[in-house]
Amino acid sequence: MTTNPGARPQEITINRAASVMRILWLDGHASEFPLRWLRANCPCATCREERRAATMAVADPLRLTATPPPSTEVMGAEFVGQYAIRLTWSDGHATGIFPFAALRACCPCSTCNPEGAPPLVID
Ligand SMILES: [Zn+2]
Ligand SMILES: [Zn+2]
Repeated sequence: MTTNPGARPQEITINRAASVMRILWLDGHASEFPLRWLRANCPCATCREERRAATMAVADPLRLTATPPPSTEVMGAEFVGQYAIRLTWSDGHATGIFPFAALRACCPCSTCNPEGAPPLVID
């Protein structure tokens, strides 16, 4: 478990109107994650497998058009122990658990990631 206060949240606000999740970290830094980005980086095994399959299916347009876009609306959120947050999406998908340390590393602000947020890395 990390002791870095930068990877521990002080306050989490999900603004559904603006489609962002804002995390105020214990060290005073704040990150705003677009919900669309969170869903696109859902760390559950199913989504990771889908993303892997999608990158391998680039030559198959039928497969790409057959997949409906995933929901980017959050219906609920809960802490998973001290280290992660689980998001429930409006289509019922709720297996994605986002570790705070990984989220902090992907902070989309220009100070943390001047090139833009990198993909969420869990392993
Ligand atoms: Zn998922
Ligand atoms: Zn930042």
